[in-house]
Amino acid sequence: MENRKPFIIANWKMHKTILEAVQFIRGYREHLKAHPAHVALAVPFTAIFASAEAAAGSPLMIGAQNMHEAAQGAFTGEVSAAMLKDAGASFVLLGHSERRRLFGEDDALINRKALRALECGLKPFICVGEMTSEHDKGRNIVKEQLLHCLRDLTPEQLRQCVISYEPIWAIGTGLLASPEYVQEIRQMSQELLVEHWGVEVVDRVPILYGGSVTAENAKEFICRSNVDGLLVGGASLSLASFMQIVDNVTEQT
Ligand code: PEP
Repeated sequence: MENRKPFIIANWKMHKTILEAVQFIRGYREHLKAHPAHVALAVPFTAIFASAEAAAGSPLMIGAQNMHEAAQGAFTGEVSAAMLKDAGASFVLLGHSERRRLFGEDDALINRKALRALECGLKPFICVGEMTSEHDKGRNIVKEQLLHCLRDLTPEQLRQCVISYEPIWAIGTGLLASPEYVQEIRQMSQELLVEHWGVEVVDRVPILYGGSVTAENAKEFICRSNVDGLLVGGASLSLASFMQIVDNVTEQT
């Protein structure tokens, strides 16, 4: 990748108790003396407050994996953007494929969530990606998803966002997308942002890749695909493998 500080995002999904999250963060802080990457942990709701406390004073970002679109109200079991912010989150993942596939979330909902997150001072990490590995179809699906998820955002708001391209067939399957194809998707996404929001947003909106990234493939993948960072699911659960990814990727920058 070019000479930029990469993003490395852990998505813990429904894993880790409060104690496990805090132990991970303490271990991470002990190991890492320099901060050559933007590292962010998307932790379960229950661990946000304690994780933010454990990360305080370090550049480690703590965030959530989802939120409700409304400011507040009668939505039993839901959590608002303001509540996440209050608990110590600085970002929120939106539109992860598991939310889309298992909970029926669509682009219009993700767009409303993004606008609400921005209003509450949370950085939206917006996930897009196609169902199949058919490349031509993939490009069009990603274009549509971006246009709908980012609808009505001002250039200033868009500059607060991070986009993560995660082809669904690559998530948790061991099937890494080809770096050349991901580079094409990144370029197509940048062109789309320029066309709709103007040239000044393009270097300010990081475009990441997620899907079967491991300590073994992260370094070569990021070099060959030229993405701005990685979103890591399974391989982020163990401190050793996550640290290895951070170390390997930042050797390149
Ligand atoms: C993810 O859940 O966003 C993800 C990329 O998972 P994995 O790294 O396990 O494929």
